[in-house]
Amino acid sequence: MSFLKKEDRRIYDAILSETKREDSNIELIASENFVSEAVLEAQGSVLTNKYAEGYPKARWYNGCEYVDDVETIAIERAKKLFKAEHVNVQPHSGTQANMAIYFAMLKPGDTVLAMDLACGGHLSHGHPHNFSGKFYKIAPYGVSRKTERLDYDEIMELAKTHKPKMILAGASAYPMAIDFKKFRQIADAVGAFVFVDIAHIAGLVAAGLHQSPVEYAEFVTSTTHKTLRGPRGGFIMCRKEFAKRIDAEVFPGLQGGPLMHIIAAKAVCFKEALRPEFKKYQAQILKNCKTLSNAMEKLGYRIVAGGTDTHLFLADLTNKKITGKEAAAVLDKAGITVNKNLIPFDTQSPFIGSGIRIGTPAATTRGMKEPEMKKIARLIDKVLTDANDEKNIMEVRKEVSAIVKAFPLYKGLIRRLEK
Ligand SMILES: *Cc1c(COP(=O)(O)O)cnc(C)c1O
Repeated sequence: MSFLKKEDRRIYDAILSETKREDSNIELIASENFVSEAVLEAQGSVLTNKYAEGYPKARWYNGCEYVDDVETIAIERAKKLFKAEHVNVQPHSGTQANMAIYFAMLKPGDTVLAMDLACGGHLSHGHPHNFSGKFYKIAPYGVSRKTERLDYDEIMELAKTHKPKMILAGASAYPMAIDFKKFRQIADAVGAFVFVDIAHIAGLVAAGLHQSPVEYAEFVTSTTHKTLRGPRGGFIMCRKEFAKRIDAEVFPGLQGGPLMHIIAAKAVCFKEALRPEFKKYQAQILKNCKTLSNAMEKLGYRIVAGGTDTHLFLADLTNKKITGKEAAAVLDKAGITVNKNLIPFDTQSPFIGSGIRIGTPAATTRGMKEPEMKKIARLIDKVLTDANDEKNIMEVRKEVSAIVKAFPLYKGLIRRLEK
């Protein structure tokens, strides 16, 4: 970053500090990950200079021969990775990918059956301040009060009552596997189409460790930056018959020029995900997640839905006499980063929350395994048990430092940046 250091010291300093923060904390935010240096390089390349409105071989501007290669490679790899008929890699984010499906397939006021945000759904699945909640009639389905898991019979009943045009499956804070085949059956019973958002679990799906929705849903969207471990962005998969409609909705419907540097980084991410090592990585995420949630359960934490099938779980802190907001703040002080979260049927507001969401993709990328997960559970418990004791927090901070030192992130990067 020698140019940046000279040109803009304040931004350089912020980037350097963020690099150190990422290196020195244990990152357990379930939606975050650490990309490879190859992904970073593609993202930081001259491709950011190029306007490429349109699609490969059909652009508005000249000089697109090389970015055409980049986008074509990204599409081919994503198709192979997910066995998809058609892929659009241009959405700038997961929310924009979702927006393309809504706008292409629905009219304002149409009914959508989607997962309740309070039970783990995403903003773009019907939050009142999000486009989805403003333009469409959202009929929410939640989880069963007893099991805190999806109840497919109840979703079927809701579908019959509300007769939605579209049924949306997928979540941001749901720890169990989702049965997309069941969603297909429900949709077929009421003549709806199925849209699955795998933003969180895309890496698991790519590795064959979670049922793939591709054969059951007309539309599948995802981000590339969560378990898939690529750059921040979105993409869409759909059946061939909808290819034209979806492509036209992304551009010119929602976006202008695609971010070609990000699309290059997406291509690198898909290549990495096609390797056998990626499957091992995803399997380790799951092992780590089970180990961490089991260890916390043993320490007296109630695990929402009774466990996890995925890369994340929710710990209910009600019996620990601390809110999600307080817990996340004090853990951050100790160098452990999680986020506050609502638990199903929470009595707290979304700004407070009774729980925390914990995910293992980022820590697993650093190479942490089951022994570290057991240590982390103990450290989380130590912080939360004595949340007002500064000395206690600093003791944990020291132990966190010792753990992360053994799993350096981006070997030598801080030294190189400081040069
Ligand atoms: C993260 C997420 C998204 C998209 O997020 P962006 O921040 O817009 O990229 C979409 N759906 C779900 C279920 C998510 O968890």
